Parts: sequence; structure tokens; C-alpha cells
Amino acid sequence: MAAFGTVFMPKMTLATYENEHWSPARLVNSDAIQLHPGAHVLHYASTCFEGLKAFKHSDDSINIFRMDQNIERMAQSSQLLSLPPIDKQLLKQMIIDVVREHIHQVPAPPGSMYIRPTHIGTEPAIGKAAHPTNSSMLYILLSPVGDYFSGGIKPLKLLIEENGSRCAAHMGMIKSGGNYASALGPILAAHSEYQADQVLFCPDGDVQETGAANFLLIDGNEIITKSLDSSFLHGITRDSILTLARDSGMTVSERELSVDELIERAEKRECEAALSGTAAVLTPVGTLIRDGQQVTVGNGQGGPTTQRLRESLNAIQWGEQADSHNWLTRID
Ligand SMILES: *Cc1c(COP(=O)(O)O)cnc(C)c1O
Repeated sequence: MAAFGTVFMPKMTLATYENEHWSPARLVNSDAIQLHPGAHVLHYASTCFEGLKAFKHSDDSINIFRMDQNIERMAQSSQLLSLPPIDKQLLKQMIIDVVREHIHQVPAPPGSMYIRPTHIGTEPAIGKAAHPTNSSMLYILLSPVGDYFSGGIKPLKLLIEENGSRCAAHMGMIKSGGNYASALGPILAAHSEYQADQVLFCPDGDVQETGAANFLLIDGNEIITKSLDSSFLHGITRDSILTLARDSGMTVSERELSVDELIERAEKRECEAALSGTAAVLTPVGTLIRDGQQVTVGNGQGGPTTQRLRESLNAIQWGEQADSHNWLTRID
């Protein structure tokens, strides 16, 4: 099967911002956009994106998960990057319209339709390194995804990075391209030196997140994860999992977690750790590497709580369990 994110639906919705207003959205071919080589995004990285999913239920209805949260986050990212202001109503309609256009191509569970709203600065102005773009483009790409865990769930190995950081501290909560470029060097080094799957960024010993997913420690009936601040990405999967954990009577501790405490707890038999994000939902972490030493998390295989929480989120997304938090938007 094709790698995640390499297959695209033929159409996308697109709108442009110019002279202080948004154009109406159009449905266009998704294989090309026209951009001036001097476009602001290509030089000064004025870009942000979102990732969310539409799911097909057994009654054939199509349902988008927590769309309003993704719209809010994209508006916030755009604002923090001094991109033109997102028209939330327009963005919502663009997401719905493009999903509706491809409504018969939404894969059934465990597959889904991944939705990628993208906002870029288009002003042809290479002298604007210290000025915002005055024009932009917003488009919504769709990519069908199959079973993320088709080869079975393999627990991840994370390298703990205590010196470097994923991105500049004031950029952490912005879902912006430059942050991924910033994290790539450490991630590639971790692959080649330690065969690690991901880097767990822990600047000054503060357990933060990986390159594109949030980190959760599960110790018995308690989930521990960093409380929200502007230094890291506020995952919607993180919020959903914490909500389901509270619903099921678990204690949710959003607070600082040091690497020392993480290592101490991880070695306990009943301990679990997991990464949360839209693509993989909740993936178990089996091994941590600190200062060249391997630490096995719990039994190293991922545990029952990680599995239960992933299944209960999937059950809501797939329409197998009541959507009691009104997380789904049904597309007709
Ligand atoms: C997208 C992303 C996440 C996960 O966010 P979700 O809303 O759960 O998909 C976490 N960390 C980073 C850096 C991300 O880019």
C-alpha cells in the first residue's frame, strides 16, 4: 500500500486573500497551484497547516472529527504567524465542500479520509523578511488513508533529547512548516545513531513532545502529560484521550514531567507510554534511550490502557459508540 499521505483526491477547495478580503472558495484540480517564485512562503516560511479526518460509518454517513477545534487552531496559527486572518466560516465550508465532493472515496474503518488545510503567504516580495505577507492562499487537500497499523502495532523507540529543542520556544504551539524543518536534523541523527523511531524533545529535562505527536505517560490509573503552554503543540487527540480517560475514572495530571521522573516511573512493570496524534491516534512507546542507555517502558510491548483508550476513541470516530461529547460533524 502507498505510504501515508502520498495519494491525493483529484480536487481541492481553494480561496485567496487579497486587498483585505477573502475570495469565494473554488473547487480546483489538486495537482498544481500557481505561485510566484518570490512568494513570501518560499522565502520566509509564512505557512501553517492542519490535519483532521473524516470517517465512514456503517450507515454510510461521513463524519468529520472535531473540525471546529482544527479550525480554531488554524486561525490561531495564522494569527501568530501574522498571516491574513482566517475566515472560520469560509474554512469550515471549504472542508465540508471538498469532503462532500469525494464523499464516495472515504475509506471505511480502519481507514479514513485525511484532510489537510494549508495556508501560505503568496505576496511576491523578497524584501519582506521582517514584514507580513499581504496576500495568501488557503486550500484543502484530501488524502485517503488505510489501516495505519496494518503491519501490527510495533511499540516505538524514542531518543530522549535534553539539550536541543524541536523548534524555537515561541513557535511551539503553531502548526507551521518551519518547525518540522527545525526538528529534522535531530530526528535523522537519532535514526542513524540509535535506530530510534522518534525524538522525545525534553529541553532542560522538561518532557515536551516528539516531532509531530504529544507524549503521554500512563502509570496505573493516572495519566501524566505536560500542561498546555506556548512551547508545544496542543494536540486535539491529546485533549480527546484525556477527556476519555477522565470519563473512565482515570486521574489526569497535566503538569511538568521531568526526564528523571519519567525514567523512574517507566521502569515500573505497570507503566505505559504513548504518542498521540491524528495520524496514528495513540501509539505505544516501548523503549526510551537516555544518555545512550536503553530503558524499557513497562513490559516494552505497550499496555492495556493504551489499547483501551485508542479503541474507545476509534469507537466514537467509527460510529460504534455514542458521540457523547459531540465531536463529529455529519456531512450530508
Ligand atoms: C499535529 C501535531 C500534534 C498532534 O496534534 P493532533 O491535533 O492530535 O493531530 C502534536 N505535536 C505536533 C508537533 C504536531 O504537529
